[in-house]
Amino acid sequence: MNEQEQTSRAASLGRRQGKAGAQVAEVSGKALGRMVGAFMKLPGIGRKSAERLAFAVLGMPREEAAGIAQAILDLKNNSRYCTVCNNITEEEICCICLDVRRDNTRICVVEEPSNILILEKSATFRGRYHALLGAISPLDGIGPEDLKIDGLLERLRSGDIKEVIIATNPTVKGETTALYLSKLIKPLGISVSRIAYGLPVGGDIEYADENTVQRALEGRREM
Ligand SMILES: [Zn+2]
Repeated sequence: MNEQEQTSRAASLGRRQGKAGAQVAEVSGKALGRMVGAFMKLPGIGRKSAERLAFAVLGMPREEAAGIAQAILDLKNNSRYCTVCNNITEEEICCICLDVRRDNTRICVVEEPSNILILEKSATFRGRYHALLGAISPLDGIGPEDLKIDGLLERLRSGDIKEVIIATNPTVKGETTALYLSKLIKPLGISVSRIAYGLPVGGDIEYADENTVQRALEGRREM
């Protein structure tokens, strides 16, 4: 998607939110209309869900609703990026970077801090992380210089790291970024690996698209 398409999509989304909010405002008041418009700014929330959430907030005790509002403000006021790995933290350095029990020889590179949370939930990786805060996307005008790559290279030059696991998304942007990083890191004498992609656990091959099946085959391992 190019910049123009993105702008027009954002504008049409804004119009939809505005229209839906105005409609609610007409029937149920301006405050409820504004709340619906606000919820529709969140990913995965359409008009119906937004209306349900707005009425749910209206039905809450005042303290509970105030707690939600305060949690949003606290999140915005207190959260920052870890100065080492760009994870989200309230301190200068995040708890993963400070944890002395973790493996210092492996770094897993991800696009966003939210990816760190998901990988941590799987509890299979006990090394360090590095969030790039984006991915290379020439169409959107995002180049390597817009990502947190310098910080990563600095960490790699410190000497402890033996392996870099690239866990960027299986998209064109993610693959472009992975390829770029691999070319940059290999000359440092550090092993570079890419996470495998495959079929979802509990899924059926019949419902998978060709690209996913192709990746699953390429990432096969001996039994
Ligand atoms: Zn950190």
